[in-house]
Amino acid sequence: MSKNEVTKWVITSAWPYVNAIPHLGNMIGSVLSSDVFARFCRLKGDEVVFVSGSDSHGTPVAVAAKQQNVPTKELAIKYHNIIKELFEKWQISYDNYTITHNPTHIDFVQKFYLDVQKNGYVFEKELETLYCENDKFFLPDRFVEGVCPHCGYENARGDQCDKCQKLLTPLELKKPRCAICGNTPVLRKTKHWYLDLPKLQDQLKNLINQNKIIPQNARQMCLNSLAEGIPERAITRDLEWGIPAPFEGADNKTIYVWFEAVLGYVSAVKEWADNIVKDEKKYDYFWKDPNTKTVFFIGKDNIIFHLIVFPGLLLAFNKDKSEGEKLTLPYNVSSTEFLMYENDKFSKSRGIGIWIDEALKIAPLDYWRFTLLYNRPETSDTSFLWSEFENNIKILNDNIGNFIHRTLTFIDKQFKGIIPKKLEYDDTDKKFIELVNSIGFEIGENISNFKLRKALRDIVNFGKEGNVYLNSKAPWHLIKKDKSAAGHVFNVCAQAVYAFGVLLSPFIPETAEKILSYLNIPTSNDLKWDTINENSIKEGQKIKKPEPLFQKLDINEIKNQLEEIKESKDKLGGKELVSYEEFKKLDIRVALIESVEKVPKADKLYKLSIALGDEKRTLVAGLAEQYKADELKGKKIVILANLEPRKLRGILSQGMLLAAVDGDIVSVLTPDKEIPSGAKIE
Ligand SMILES: [Zn+2]
Ligand SMILES: [Zn+2]
Repeated sequence: MSKNEVTKWVITSAWPYVNAIPHLGNMIGSVLSSDVFARFCRLKGDEVVFVSGSDSHGTPVAVAAKQQNVPTKELAIKYHNIIKELFEKWQISYDNYTITHNPTHIDFVQKFYLDVQKNGYVFEKELETLYCENDKFFLPDRFVEGVCPHCGYENARGDQCDKCQKLLTPLELKKPRCAICGNTPVLRKTKHWYLDLPKLQDQLKNLINQNKIIPQNARQMCLNSLAEGIPERAITRDLEWGIPAPFEGADNKTIYVWFEAVLGYVSAVKEWADNIVKDEKKYDYFWKDPNTKTVFFIGKDNIIFHLIVFPGLLLAFNKDKSEGEKLTLPYNVSSTEFLMYENDKFSKSRGIGIWIDEALKIAPLDYWRFTLLYNRPETSDTSFLWSEFENNIKILNDNIGNFIHRTLTFIDKQFKGIIPKKLEYDDTDKKFIELVNSIGFEIGENISNFKLRKALRDIVNFGKEGNVYLNSKAPWHLIKKDKSAAGHVFNVCAQAVYAFGVLLSPFIPETAEKILSYLNIPTSNDLKWDTINENSIKEGQKIKKPEPLFQKLDINEIKNQLEEIKESKDKLGGKELVSYEEFKKLDIRVALIESVEKVPKADKLYKLSIALGDEKRTLVAGLAEQYKADELKGKKIVILANLEPRKLRGILSQGMLLAAVDGDIVSVLTPDKEIPSGAKIE
């Protein structure tokens, strides 16, 4: 790292999918790590554009929206806004955090694929896919569920089995069913557009071999995958929610979400140039300069996609373009292993783990940033442990917090808050001063090499050395006979305090700002990494009265708070709070089952004829495996009466029966006193 070298960076973190709030594992995997790196590059004086956004298309959010009966776009934007706000609270310093459902991206993707097609990397192929005759649409990816062909899991999804993690295609599922209505889909012919990745095989191999920067494990993974041969991949889907495919004859097709979200790395910079800094040249300046370094912070499961599929797309787009028109190829990826929670997997459904919204309600931001980075899963999977969290904050306070507080309090009390004069250095001084002068370079080298965990641990060690220096000089004794000798020690310590203010600012920016404000140094864009040295703080400078930087964590108290937050969510099935007004819209009533018939060719379904007072209705309910028909006949049950009628197996179901479910046990709700049918539940 030479001092005069100004580098252009496009720094990115993986795009979170829009239907879930990230957990701590997602946070450290890409988001927080990229933020440290971006903040560091800015401090170094490099030119940085740091982007990411919400991945908003594809089937998961479309399925959720259909199930909740809300427009998909509305649901996607709602979650995007929640995630965006949380990232701001975590002080992630994006220059643009956008969403793939934005006009710049949509336009960019469509033009991009027309170029790729023009360059000869797209071909068409007809194939059979699953189609739901009831919902009247093709069922891509997660719109199909069924039995996993590998492990037999009953609820495997069309793109992946959640149990054995194997990637699947809808046609591989045994006993496939529509994720919306449960019907068995049929096969229908449809045409799709494919990316000819095999044509790029050799170029991609060269690219990986030539790149001396990417980590060894990532290189090996890519070379293995290339040796196996990369398959052609369908770029289109028969799905309404997505970016309309621009190819001729591809009406009603959209671009597969994997193939467009990744282009967000490019379009987000374009959107930033056009709409945020309002200087459209900035887009070419960053993305079309071969000297720009692009770096992608991702989880280890994303390596192939970023080092093979994404560069493949760029090569296909760049073909026959002149220098200055070509998009620059990936410079590096920084991938992390996985973070576990108390040696278990994060699981929303089992309530295992901490989500980034919950974390901020129970402990200060910088405590989380510190502990996640201090244990960053750089070379192997690591686990968030409560005991370690407590201990990490103690380490932070003992080594750094106390050193800074002791130094500043002493100057405040004994020297009226004025930085005292420096004298001649003795050997003890020289040893510590040498460290002060070199620490910025050393930490910077580690961050530049994506060793963020080592960098942070070295900052803590610097704190340890500070305390060793202070204790060996014992200025609290010195001051009794020689005030200027004590003052000298605190001048030296003040230089180290400044160093902490700069060194910590990529990692724990709120704390760094506090440290610098005690020294009366504004944290503006002028703050520079290379200002750390033995003369950073001048004699005579006035400081502010400091407050302790950190508090001891009461882990039991924090865990209790988290339990309470989770319990209040659990009561609502993990969903958000419903207002009383919203609840009042639900018309829940007692109904009498008058007759029960099996639905032909459907093992699980009954057709129920019910009475709501005088009104007669038909209901389709999946109870045939749990109840015999005559067990249900004459029973009073509870139904949601104002649910939009739905056709199931050709039968119009006018309402929904309510039942308690626990695994395989299903129990219909029934009033425990004599009450007429049609009575309202409130
Ligand atoms: Zn499986
Ligand atoms: Zn269906």
